Amino acid sequence: MKNKLVEKSKLSVIKGDNVLIISGKDKGKQGKIIKSIPDKKMVVVEGANIVTRHTKPSAKGRGGIQKIPAPLFVSKVMLICPKCKKPTRVKHKIDSEGNKHRYCSHCNEVFD
Ligand SMILES: [Zn+2]
Repeated sequence: MKNKLVEKSKLSVIKGDNVLIISGKDKGKQGKIIKSIPDKKMVVVEGANIVTRHTKPSAKGRGGIQKIPAPLFVSKVMLICPKCKKPTRVKHKIDSEGNKHRYCSHCNEVFD
């Protein structure tokens, strides 16, 4: 019997994190993660990887051309540490109660 569920592939960056884009057309841009898609290892960063979508008018809006941020692979972004403001590789540690925490590899600030 399995008494522990296999942890769903968690991303090292999550919604609300500020990240730096390290590759692609938006390299060097910073933004906040507005959505994470752990199953695909992708995140949507505010203002980054903008694509144009043509939409039909609907009850919700008048349609037309919309510019929306498309998902990026999580490997293309780096978390910006809220404390030392450096782009950092997120490290993980597990506390005495078995909870996983993320921390900064530069200043050791624990994020959550
Ligand atoms: Zn830091």
